[in-house]
Amino acid sequence: MEKKIVILPGDGIGQEVTTEGRRVLEKIADLFGHRFSFDAAQIGHEAIAATGQPLPDASLEKLKRCDAILFGAVGHPRYDNDPTLKVRPEQGLLKMRKELGLYANLRPIRLFDELLHASSIKPEILKGADILFFRELTGDVYFGEKGRKDQGNTAYDLMVYQRYEVTRIAHMAFQAARTRRKKVTSVDKANVLESSRLWREEVQAVSQHYPDVALEHQFVDAAAMKLIQQPRSFDVVLTGNLFGDILTDEASQIAGSMGMLASASVGDTVGLYEPIHGSAHDITGQGMANPLASILSAALLLQISFELKQEAEAVIAAVERTLQQGYRTRDIADGGTAPDKILTTARMGDRVVEQLEQVANALEKLPRA
Ligand code: NAD
Repeated sequence: MEKKIVILPGDGIGQEVTTEGRRVLEKIADLFGHRFSFDAAQIGHEAIAATGQPLPDASLEKLKRCDAILFGAVGHPRYDNDPTLKVRPEQGLLKMRKELGLYANLRPIRLFDELLHASSIKPEILKGADILFFRELTGDVYFGEKGRKDQGNTAYDLMVYQRYEVTRIAHMAFQAARTRRKKVTSVDKANVLESSRLWREEVQAVSQHYPDVALEHQFVDAAAMKLIQQPRSFDVVLTGNLFGDILTDEASQIAGSMGMLASASVGDTVGLYEPIHGSAHDITGQGMANPLASILSAALLLQISFELKQEAEAVIAAVERTLQQGYRTRDIADGGTAPDKILTTARMGDRVVEQLEQVANALEKLPRA
């Protein structure tokens, strides 16, 4: 298979973790006989510093012409500490989602057994948890009208949803549920928000097309509690942009760390794959970032955009075997981790690439030269 991938490292640890994600994709191409070509583009603070724009036209053009995108993160303390700055890194991300029509963010919450004890939740509550989030990406308070009035003393961000935005992602969630445990939990705040009432109404209408899938509704406050209390009770979770943003960070604790969670943003055109974490400037440049979320994002890219199921599974198996051998980055290490098994970002990438070779050998998929 011949494919063109754009690497969009962005800021902070985005640079470090996408380097490892790319190495894994290169190794997959090598082992399974594919030809992946790579290009790079700028976004975020890096792009603002170079061009004044958070997503320069040159980047957008490259993104529109490729087969898949592996993205790192955007963000810089300069903007976090100064809300008055008008040009901001996250505008690049929002513009990219809009321009590429990426309306659904899929976040699988996968718990590797080896990390049962890395989570702050009790292992007996966690074991077996397997959740797939569908977070809507193009509506909600992020894109509604926003502003200030009363001499700047009143601020507002309108929460807006249009019916078609709910319809299209709801279909995706129900279709995914059919391939899993056949249950969708739709999360909203329909007791107080009109946009949530539209959300609920439309999810119910879509559910009529999927009589084999059970639908339940939860208010976001209850869902936040149940995620920690009974994580195994969820299969597919369908929710809006803001609630999804918050709940998936919370759910990252099921997986042990932000550094373990991958995501896919899909919609009308090319797919974008990224860790759920941000640019983590507190650990940037120290080799402390966990690259597994970026590596698992590469696995999602293989599975969803290229439909290379076996290759995607090989990446997941390589990550699992690396963890089984006791290797950890600092964020997922615990008291029982031997100091020589605590690895830097690049060394963790090395271990996964090594394991990939072994997994592919076991699959007898090595091209015979
Ligand atoms: P963050 O996700 O960057 O970091 C939160 C905490 O988790 C930090 O302590 C960090 O060290 C740790 N962490 C995150 N990823 C890790 C990894 N791979 N390995 C080990 N530890 C990891 O969130 P934040 O601190 O709230 O935000 C930092 C910046 O990132 C801000 O500028 C924010 O706007 C931006 N941000 C960007 C995105 C994105 O690009 N998609 C998402 C969230 C935040």
